[in-house]
Amino acid sequence: MKQLRGFKYRFYPTDSQRLELAQTFGCTRFVYNWALALRTNSYYQDNVSLTGDINCAGNPRRRALSYTDTSKALTKLKKDPEKPWLKQVSAVPLQQGLRHLNTAFQNFFKGKTKYPRFKKKANRQSAHYAPNAFKWVEGKLTLAKMSQPLKIKWSRYFTGEPKSITVSKDPSNRYFVSFLVEEELDGWQPSTEEVGIDLGIKDVVVCSNGFASGNPKHYQKYQARLKTLQRRLAKKKKGSNNRYKARLKIAKLHAKISDCRKDFLHKLSTKLVSENQAIYTETLAVKNMMANHKLAKAIADCGWGEFLRQLEYKAKWHDRKIGAIDRWFPSSKRCNPCGHILDKLPLDVREWTCPSCNSVNLRDENAALNILAVGQTVFACGLS
Ligand SMILES: [Zn+2]
Repeated sequence: MKQLRGFKYRFYPTDSQRLELAQTFGCTRFVYNWALALRTNSYYQDNVSLTGDINCAGNPRRRALSYTDTSKALTKLKKDPEKPWLKQVSAVPLQQGLRHLNTAFQNFFKGKTKYPRFKKKANRQSAHYAPNAFKWVEGKLTLAKMSQPLKIKWSRYFTGEPKSITVSKDPSNRYFVSFLVEEELDGWQPSTEEVGIDLGIKDVVVCSNGFASGNPKHYQKYQARLKTLQRRLAKKKKGSNNRYKARLKIAKLHAKISDCRKDFLHKLSTKLVSENQAIYTETLAVKNMMANHKLAKAIADCGWGEFLRQLEYKAKWHDRKIGAIDRWFPSSKRCNPCGHILDKLPLDVREWTCPSCNSVNLRDENAALNILAVGQTVFACGLS
């Protein structure tokens, strides 16, 4: 089975490449923000419908700006004598930026995301190259407008031709290149195991088979260090080089925390997907739980959202099933052996005795067993 996979590597640009990339990132960001403003203004000023449908009075509204409209407007914008720099970079990432914006709008209309936001210079910068804007010859990648290939640190290999390339720079000034490649996957043996998983804070994952992942709490580990660095930053003069350096140190620490967390989650998701044919989990209202400030940091440190994302795509690669069950199902409060449901179960109770059947239930494992049972029933009946 052929699958699209992403491969991400760090690379080290030469001085001229760094300059070229800074220009490309800047222009891409400029065009994205310009097109976002254009689409937003046309919505408010001209009273057009962003979705191009009919307004409530029954009158057909003027059609909203589409990707094609913004693309035509960009051609005009490039002729602006006051913006000669727009022509100095490859046109492809600029166009791709418009496409990304279009996707962002589509997701917004489907109710999947919030309204698209302006891109900021301080955040991660990126540029997307279609195949007509890069050369891939004998394992060497050369981007449009560049004379030399990128110096990439190859951490793993892929076969197959790259379909597109994304180059990015994170806030700690590291450069990365991602290849989107269509690849034949070496299939894993089907497994006969099925598992229910409960996501938590003490252990990021507890499985119905008793496995508990632990929680390395990467953020908490570096919290004190982060506080020190932030205090130092606050004392530096605005706009000074020292302030820049202090901010870079913080960005680097954040990057380290995020890398460690991802590494932990990758190992965990690979283990679960390789061992089980079906994995049942609760759908999480992660954002709702984040509103609880006492728990927000601890929850963010678990990376549940990222973990579920990894589970989902790895399951797809290897033909495994992920079943998400209703989050209102009382997985913790239900006694798995007998089905008795408690009125309440405070968060700090890790172990409880069922008043009905006297079973002693470990909180998380019991929840995972319930999730497994419900998942098997629901998905066997095709009720997903
Ligand atoms: Zn019971």
